[in-house]
Amino acid sequence: MLQRFSLFLSRTPTWFAPLNVAAAAFRSLSSARAVAFIALALALCSGVQAQTQSINLYTTREPGLMKPLLEAFTAKTGIKVATVFLKDGLLERVKAEGVSSPADVLMAVDIGNLLDLSESKLFQAINSEALNAAIPAPLRSSDGTWFAFSLRDRVLYADKSLKLESFRYEDLASPAYKGKVCIRSGQHPYNNALIASIIAHRGIAQTEQWLRGVKANLARKAAGGDRDVARDILGGICDLGLANAYYAGQMKTAAAGTDARKWGDAIQVIRPTFAQTGGTFVNISGAGVAAHAPNKVGAIAFLEYLISPSAQNLYARVNFEYPVRQGVALDPTVESFGLLKADLTPLTEIAKHRKEASLLVDRLGFDR
Ligand code: FE
Repeated sequence: MLQRFSLFLSRTPTWFAPLNVAAAAFRSLSSARAVAFIALALALCSGVQAQTQSINLYTTREPGLMKPLLEAFTAKTGIKVATVFLKDGLLERVKAEGVSSPADVLMAVDIGNLLDLSESKLFQAINSEALNAAIPAPLRSSDGTWFAFSLRDRVLYADKSLKLESFRYEDLASPAYKGKVCIRSGQHPYNNALIASIIAHRGIAQTEQWLRGVKANLARKAAGGDRDVARDILGGICDLGLANAYYAGQMKTAAAGTDARKWGDAIQVIRPTFAQTGGTFVNISGAGVAAHAPNKVGAIAFLEYLISPSAQNLYARVNFEYPVRQGVALDPTVESFGLLKADLTPLTEIAKHRKEASLLVDRLGFDR
């Protein structure tokens, strides 16, 4: 509610300023010129209003997640959102549009993508008390260019018959799991970030040893998607693998009788930890205000909405992600995975090892 009021208050002077100027000028004009002047003033006003009443969002996120968030934002603030949904190529597109880009907000998943946008100077720095207060420092840039709005933990999917009680990421390389592991490509951003975080913890030599061990345990080529880990556990191809937690939430709550539900029902989800830190690896989804945003005020209002308790609850309910804001209710299925104790190594530190992680995957032929 507070956010709503501050939003309208800050917009009021913008709306009324042209009207005041018009009234003063009108008193000193002849009638013919006055008509022309009124037309001009109205055009100016509607221009200002149109600008403050809508924002342009560019995102690589799924329309299914965004729709409820966008509808709730518009219902709350009156600001309409025109959304460009991109599969990929967000950075290239905004870069190509340059200073005339209509984008107000850029939204993406994965720390790597957010840093790429930031390093390409496609975000502008903002200072928002609401964002700074609700988002812990390791989950936003120190310069106010990007902010995390959800956490995406990379967890273990295991055959229920294994009855595992805990798991460490290191265990995935254990000879006990030879021929039993399924995982997607080592080059996929989700695995790239995880491997980068192991490099940050243990250095390149020990990470190489670990990744060799995981490769030796693969039941099949490292390929496909995260859901395929559950599918292949049900199919008896493998016993365990790493995947993002929200896919398990989606599958376990899918309609009874669907393939997705059968895959979800076949797996047990465990939040693995790093032996050294005792934390679980989390990546983020996030957003920032575009460098040349035509409607910066509206863009900030949108980001402030995303961190509100109700929007954070939608992240949890609609996409089974973990809210960034403290004290927001989780989806019950996600809650059943146990407490998330996130590894606190700053994501910007981890992201420095992205390139090394990618080279390592190539060198070991992990995906071959
Ligand atoms: Fe995903």
